[in-house]
Amino acid sequence: MAGNSEGHEDGLQELDQHFSNLVAEVRDYAIFLLSPAGYVRSWNAGAAHIKGYAASEIIGRHFSTFYTPEAISTGWPDEELRRATAEGRFEDEGWRIRKDGTQFWANVVITPLYEDDRKLRGFLKITRDLTERKHAEEELRQSEERFRLLVDSVQDYAIFRLDTDGRVATWNAGAERIKGYAAAEIIGRHFSEFFSSEDLVAGKPAKELEIAQRDGRAEDEGWRVRKDGSLFWANVVVTALRNDDGVLVGYAKITRDMTDKRKADALELADRQKNEFLAMLAHELRNPLAPISNGLQLLKLPGIEQAVVREATEMMERQLYHLVRLVDDLLDVSRIVTGKMQYQKEPVELATIIRRAVEESQPLIDARGHELMLSLPAKSIIVDGDVHRLSQVFSNLLLNAAKYTDQPNQIWLHVERDDAEAVIRVRDAGIGITPELLPNIFNLFVQADHSLDHARGGLGIGLSIVKRIVEMHRGTVGAFSAGSGQGSEFVVRLPVSHALAATAETTPHAHHAKGPRRRILVVDDNADAALTVGTLLRAWGHDVRTVFNGPAALEEAHSFHPEIVLLDIGMPGMSGYDVARELRAHLIDPGTIIIALTGYGRESDRERSFEAGFDYHLTKPPDPSTLESLLALPTGAGRRGQDNLRLASE
Ligand code: ADP
Repeated sequence: MAGNSEGHEDGLQELDQHFSNLVAEVRDYAIFLLSPAGYVRSWNAGAAHIKGYAASEIIGRHFSTFYTPEAISTGWPDEELRRATAEGRFEDEGWRIRKDGTQFWANVVITPLYEDDRKLRGFLKITRDLTERKHAEEELRQSEERFRLLVDSVQDYAIFRLDTDGRVATWNAGAERIKGYAAAEIIGRHFSEFFSSEDLVAGKPAKELEIAQRDGRAEDEGWRVRKDGSLFWANVVVTALRNDDGVLVGYAKITRDMTDKRKADALELADRQKNEFLAMLAHELRNPLAPISNGLQLLKLPGIEQAVVREATEMMERQLYHLVRLVDDLLDVSRIVTGKMQYQKEPVELATIIRRAVEESQPLIDARGHELMLSLPAKSIIVDGDVHRLSQVFSNLLLNAAKYTDQPNQIWLHVERDDAEAVIRVRDAGIGITPELLPNIFNLFVQADHSLDHARGGLGIGLSIVKRIVEMHRGTVGAFSAGSGQGSEFVVRLPVSHALAATAETTPHAHHAKGPRRRILVVDDNADAALTVGTLLRAWGHDVRTVFNGPAALEEAHSFHPEIVLLDIGMPGMSGYDVARELRAHLIDPGTIIIALTGYGRESDRERSFEAGFDYHLTKPPDPSTLESLLALPTGAGRRGQDNLRLASE
């Protein structure tokens, strides 16, 4: 047993020796012993390597030699030993000094060593040189700091962090500049504040974070709200931030204000559209020119047959008409753009407007083999407006219906009265309108895919003219289609005229019946104009006197007692205004209807004529059915009519 025990002891000693040798040779750690009072007792290779002292130089010296003067002045070395004794172990990191006076960053572990009788024998001190790690850490810290300063000072991007709930956690200068909040105002508030109310209703903020969580990143463009409530067009990238274990710790958000870019894009688009438009315009103008030019060559041929001449001129007329329409449309567009579109306003029968529109569009409808199904109400509907402009609305719609229906088919035009509105529907069973195009269809230059539609011609301006004219008449227009190949319907609503609505209802078909025979005085210094109107009125069975100046009108009124006076305004000497005032003052029954028949159609002209005593104001040439309706008014309607029409023109 003893032998065994001996052998065991020997082994331990051997191990001890081996261990001591090992410790002595370790280079990466300074491992040495201190006496209970802190004097260096042993020194290994690592200690020599790290601290620069040879064993003979340092053994016997106090370990505070390794400390900075500041540490020594606060009594730190002794404090370390005290704590090691009290706690059984002490660990510290800090600057220590090498023999050559340079500093190194040390990790120090001090362990008290006891004898068997628990008497303190000294301390084991293990020191590591962590200067490199320290430098690396410091560099990282500095680079993080530099990065933070950089991010903080970036002006062009709002860069900020959200916590996992979406509350703002950091805020840079760009965020303040773009969104208007100072950091103190917004940190801690939820990022949904940057969204419009529609986006909030749609749950967009939550969705943004959801996508960032799921895909790591979410990108979006849209309107965002600044602190002052104004909107800006934002490009937003949200990135989910996760720690090393993959746990979500928040979000980084980078927002750019793209409002200016968006404006620039819009300008670029407008510019491109304009260029496309010009190219299309050249094409559209050239189209009718070629046949006209051919026609002219044909007419120059010697001995050409009469039938060929007629055919060629008719063809040229058609093409010329097409050109004129194009130019008219273009002028309208420029008037729309400059806000200078003018129109005359007078009571007109809707039937007249529709008839004109049908006359205009019938040739194309026939040429493409379609059939127009017209349905008008029995009672006439009168609207206040410009016959020419309004018929342009419906001819445009009818022409489009014909143009955008490929196979011969029916086209429907349906007119009805809906309370105080006239409702006009133009429907076709044609190519229809895609849901993408539909909302923009009334915008200038908007057309379906050109490559498909080029053959149909057109400049993409017809519908914008339609909309503008309808709106000028205080009406609305809408486009409906179930989609490609499903046909289309355009619905125009126009307010019914107050002036003649009542009359028109009490005298239905006023434009067909000639009405009672009336005594009518026609006054116009343009003899041709006076005579033709006179002839027309006589043909309708009225008793008509025609005079060509003011004094003659007064004289005639005196003896003739007209029920209705059709009076021109711009006459030399005595103007129509003077004549009307004089008539009202002395010469006619109060109920006599005085109608201005004039070239002046502006609102101010109407005002003036009403003030002078006129009841109605028609512009030349008068629309026959409107004239007929007025002539069918009950006797003595003059005064009353004046009030009604004033109302209508307000
Ligand atoms: P244009 O006919 O000269 O192109 P418009 O402004 O009249 O210009 O019409 C704009 C576009 O609307 C057309 O190019 C066409 O794509 C579409 N569109 C208009 N009317 C119809 C219709 N009745 N059916 C199908 N598409 C239509």
